[in-house]
Amino acid sequence: MKIYQSPILNNFSNLTHAFTTKDGGVSNSPYTSLNLAFHVQDNTLDVTKNHEKLASELNYDTRTLVHMKQVHSNLVHVVGNKDNFENPPTCDALITDRKNIPLMVMVADCSPILFYDAKKEVIAVAHAGRQGAFKNIVQNVIYTFTNIYDSHAQNISVTIGADIGVCCYEVGVEIYEEAKKLNLDYAIEKRDNSFYLDVNKILMTQLLTSDIKKENIEILNECTCCRSDKYFSYRADRTTGRFAGILMIKE
Ligand SMILES: [Zn+2]
Repeated sequence: MKIYQSPILNNFSNLTHAFTTKDGGVSNSPYTSLNLAFHVQDNTLDVTKNHEKLASELNYDTRTLVHMKQVHSNLVHVVGNKDNFENPPTCDALITDRKNIPLMVMVADCSPILFYDAKKEVIAVAHAGRQGAFKNIVQNVIYTFTNIYDSHAQNISVTIGADIGVCCYEVGVEIYEEAKKLNLDYAIEKRDNSFYLDVNKILMTQLLTSDIKKENIEILNECTCCRSDKYFSYRADRTTGRFAGILMIKE
């Protein structure tokens, strides 16, 4: 199983984390092979098997994993006792200080974001595509850290895994107009009379505006659409699986 680990989060020995790729699962085409999403018409037994394989690779119990019914919102959910693998909450970010509860965000072009406050020992994961970036879900996550867990933004580390790059993310003129209204047109590139959106540029700006230190931010900047051999990409393949970012505090 080929997974990727963040140099920033690797500094913390009390964490388990990973970004998955397409590799190492049992799903068949077009979900080959480590598809982790149940909602994309893949065989449910295969998806369950993929989750079990990943859990065994990273050494956690699948039943305790909390994932999300992601809806392109800016909603942050504080993980509670009722959250478990069978009942994913509807939201686009999860946060907890509980140990041995793996949090998962699933993507195919959107950005998988992992957060860790080493002082308060609090983790969060977030899903941000164009809508999450336009709605500034990052700010809501940092706000939840500081308001619920008494975190200081300066202590929070953030890593963003593979996502669609400005090389491939062509958008229509209506998105350009919307970006302009939100003062986000700095993240639109014009090439050959077309518009291209740089989501990572927005996320970086929002993180810095939320007082996250630049040296605590890591962006992989690997384009899922260019590398659809390695990652699931909705833009490249339409019918496809989802890969994941996972983060857990160990007991
Ligand atoms: Zn690309």
